[in-house]
Amino acid sequence: MSTAGFNSQNGTGQTYANGPSQNPVAPHQLPGVGYGSTPQQTYNPMQAKASPLPGPPGPYPVCSYQPGAPFASYPAPSGQSMLTRPMMGGPPSHTPPQSASPGPRPPPAQATPPPSMSSSSYYTNPQQTPAWQYNTAPPPMGAPTSISTPPRGPAPPHVSPTASSTGSSTAYSPAAPPPHVSHGVTQPPGPQMHRTPLHGYPPPGSGPPSMAPMAPHTYQPNRAPFGPPPTGPLPSMNPAPPPMGPPMAHASPQPPKADGTGPQATNSFNHVDNRMGGSPQPGPPGRHLGGHYPTLPPGYQNAAPPPSAMHPAIQAATQPYSQAPQPYQQPLGGPGPAQLSPSLAAMSLQSSTPEALRVVNLLQERNLLPPIPIPPPTPCLQQELQKINCNPEVFRSTLTSIPQTQSLLNKAKMPLGLLLHPFKDLSQLPVVTSSTIVRCRSCRTYINPFVSFLDQRRWKCNLCYRVNDVPEEFMYNPVSRSYGEPHKRPEVQNATIEFIAPSEYMLRPPQPAVYLFILDVSHNAVETGYLSVFCQSLLDNINGLPGDSRTKIGFVTFDSTIHFYNLQEGLSQPQMLIVSDIDDIFLPTPDSLLVNLNECKELVQDLLKSLPTLFQKTMETQSALGSALQAAYKLLLPTGGRMSVFQTQLPNLGVGALQSREDPNQRASAKDIHHLSPATDFYKKLALDCSGQQVAVDLFLLSSQYCDLASLGCISRYSAGSVYYYPSYHHQHNPAQVECFQKDLKRYLTRKIGFEAVMRIRCSKGMSIHTFHGNFFVRSTDLLSLPNVNPDAGFAVQMSIEENLDDMQNVSFQAALLYTSSKGERRIRVHTLCLPVVNSLSDIFAGADVQAITGLLACMAVDRSATASLSDARDAMTNAAIDSLTSFRQSVLSIQQPGLLAPACLRLFPLFILALLKQKAFRTGTSTRLDERLFAMCQLKYQPLVYSMLMIHPALYRVDNLSDEGALNINERTVPQPPLLQLSVEKLSREAAFLMDAGTVMYLWVGRSCHPGFLTQVLGVASYAAVPDNLYLLPELDTAESQRTRAFIGWLRDQRPFFPPLHVIRDESQLKPMFMQNMIEDRTESALSYYEFLLHLQQQISK
Ligand SMILES: [Zn+2]
Repeated sequence: MSTAGFNSQNGTGQTYANGPSQNPVAPHQLPGVGYGSTPQQTYNPMQAKASPLPGPPGPYPVCSYQPGAPFASYPAPSGQSMLTRPMMGGPPSHTPPQSASPGPRPPPAQATPPPSMSSSSYYTNPQQTPAWQYNTAPPPMGAPTSISTPPRGPAPPHVSPTASSTGSSTAYSPAAPPPHVSHGVTQPPGPQMHRTPLHGYPPPGSGPPSMAPMAPHTYQPNRAPFGPPPTGPLPSMNPAPPPMGPPMAHASPQPPKADGTGPQATNSFNHVDNRMGGSPQPGPPGRHLGGHYPTLPPGYQNAAPPPSAMHPAIQAATQPYSQAPQPYQQPLGGPGPAQLSPSLAAMSLQSSTPEALRVVNLLQERNLLPPIPIPPPTPCLQQELQKINCNPEVFRSTLTSIPQTQSLLNKAKMPLGLLLHPFKDLSQLPVVTSSTIVRCRSCRTYINPFVSFLDQRRWKCNLCYRVNDVPEEFMYNPVSRSYGEPHKRPEVQNATIEFIAPSEYMLRPPQPAVYLFILDVSHNAVETGYLSVFCQSLLDNINGLPGDSRTKIGFVTFDSTIHFYNLQEGLSQPQMLIVSDIDDIFLPTPDSLLVNLNECKELVQDLLKSLPTLFQKTMETQSALGSALQAAYKLLLPTGGRMSVFQTQLPNLGVGALQSREDPNQRASAKDIHHLSPATDFYKKLALDCSGQQVAVDLFLLSSQYCDLASLGCISRYSAGSVYYYPSYHHQHNPAQVECFQKDLKRYLTRKIGFEAVMRIRCSKGMSIHTFHGNFFVRSTDLLSLPNVNPDAGFAVQMSIEENLDDMQNVSFQAALLYTSSKGERRIRVHTLCLPVVNSLSDIFAGADVQAITGLLACMAVDRSATASLSDARDAMTNAAIDSLTSFRQSVLSIQQPGLLAPACLRLFPLFILALLKQKAFRTGTSTRLDERLFAMCQLKYQPLVYSMLMIHPALYRVDNLSDEGALNINERTVPQPPLLQLSVEKLSREAAFLMDAGTVMYLWVGRSCHPGFLTQVLGVASYAAVPDNLYLLPELDTAESQRTRAFIGWLRDQRPFFPPLHVIRDESQLKPMFMQNMIEDRTESALSYYEFLLHLQQQISK
């Protein structure tokens, strides 16, 4: 029996502690502020076992739940002490708007930055060329000269901007400084702009109005431990070499559903659009189900075709979230969710129990993978409630039935947590403008569909159970224009809703949209050719940047010096100002570097057109990224906004300089992986500064060299930014990545954005949050600071049960996201999820959501990798599978049977765990570049579940025989729906072609003897040998086969907001290993096959 693992993530009754997310920065609660009297305890979710039972749950710690004092005490900005740093330097001491939190709670003075790595969903990984080297940058070729110039304006006397009339490529040999910058300077020919080198001697004494470089006293210089290290040795996985024998003798594939309806992946939430980036789309009605595995060559075939009938377990799992949306009428005075007769929940549970709990012997049933993506399980709620429940794509729980007690949860050995995609693009979103936003007077929960109305004038909160008055205004229903039906208001009809917030939700006027771009222009950067793609992309999309007439924009470029661009209205062309004193960075002309986009658009466009050529001949190899970030931070201090950083190498100059920590020779052989944690806290500190000033930093890393993403990534992780990574980006050598970068940029520049955001997550009394995952800064136990929020960011939350929930039928969770829209409106988006409470282990198992569990475990394992070690994290994941299946066997099964038994709803759990062990983030024994591993970890923490599941367990389809049978018809386009295949070489055939969708990248593998029809009609080549090595675009041929294939791939791509590049690969391709390594069920040199893994689990379970 395993002992270590994730079991303790279920909590041991401790009060909230941030677990690995614990705030190393402000570890001490300010007296009187906090959340409760209970001392925070460090809680390591991935640590060894939790105590079985949290003992008598002492007196309920009121504070741990009650989010704050009744808002009468709505604290003014005073509470912001939290992030207070000594104000540095001259910049206006702008207090960040600490946005009026969705709750009444004062912005707590407790900072709790969680660990969470993030990453954007944009990921391309092709290890295109094996020729990667972690070379250091080429040696400098020629020293740039800089000159000191007389001061300009308020600048320090020793600094003086000048306009260089030499222009162009002699970038670093500026001509003699003219006395003035902006006037009377002859224009250099060409696209150049004036360059104004400001040579900075370290300003003696009275420096420029610069800020002291990041010296926040509040920060502890050292990264505090994220929770204690795991205690005790973790059971390691001893792959007792299992028989490779004829394992799956009795393959009895589980075919999938066949009721012809296809799973309705959506719930009843009629207002929410599910098209956008949704989860794997359910198959269409009538798509072929089961039994349609391609004919395999004799040698490959070892599994019987699946029966055609739909598997009951799948049937259960695919029950529609709800039927067609119907107006829900909550009976006045009727039983509220909390008052349902106990039998109701029990009945509904029982009805599905036989399905989800059907016992599966994993060692015998081979083909468990359904041919269509698995829809989330449906909570066993009263039908009326489930109809209006939150869309699982937005808000989802690992357990759709909540255990009544922590001890019950501990026994189940499954993690309890929520996965959120709170700012997901929605095509329909009810928006309410009202002077009164109705909220619970006690806990500040927003009124929602799961409250109960005692009568027309009173409603009972579903989180704290306080009875509240219905405000007079709420008696009128603007939708029906009727009076006296508060229960029909949109707020009570929609689990997802958005409010336009009145002024009390603002601590300062909503800020304009501000975009600042920080661009690496070193020699290395110029070599990649990214700059022209970026500039063109921004030119193309400049009118699509979210914003209004107040929108501001600015640019900073850097190499060994920092270059600013004066874009002030009235200039005839952009003016470049160079600051070479990177140790004490200051802003040369603070007022003209961030300009109004509308008023200065032409100058901005001029700049974008000239930038790519401006540095074309640079020989500067150094990178002062840290100083550039400091400069950018100063620029954004007054307003907050978004920083977009483009970096192509390891920063090697000035503050934040890093050194390579990777030994390429150790990548495959290392026993454990080191350097998963940051080498410096510089980036984290700066990120926290940024967060405090409502600045988020997005990082685009385009590099073939090691860049220490573990350190650099902190800048985005703690400021709620995103990370994009394009390994081996090159404008000529890697066209697939160029396309990917272009598509990503378009999405990035034009997608919705929220500024000055905070998100609070509330839960019913008795439950609490103990760890967050994602990119943010934890401001208090339930409040995340999100300087920016974007529609592609996901979050996860681990929960624990503090008090017994015996007298509750249901519990609810509410996420409230308060943000400033790009149009300057303060808005609150509220999602509420309701789940039943159960008191038996079998009911808990019946409601397990295997994908959500896998997603949450992945987040926990990322934390564990950083706080303990990668091998600990791997052991813990394996133990999670062992423990839950052991619990099932011991506590749920009444009749003991031989074999490795799992409930049908968890039948894919071991497979997903194995997939995680083989995922780039966690794998061992395979050469994996450190940055790629880190990026995979970022993505697992940051991506919404649907995308991370594709990263973990890619989808494999045979595509050389696509047919219209069961196809979808979308916009008059026929989209074939081939069945999903298991990830095993035995499913491949040399005569066929297969598409693998790994979420952020796709591979089209062409078999050596592939049908000639496919080659000519889809790939447009005459023979297998003629398939190009670097094919990443399918030709647009006018054949039915070509149209089908492109329609299918296009449809897959349309379902996510980022662009997965496609690589067509042959057997000989260099990329073939990338494809083959996703064959998760097969054995590799360093990892077990699926069957071996099952045997290992069985062995551990029967111990
Ligand atoms: Zn309440």
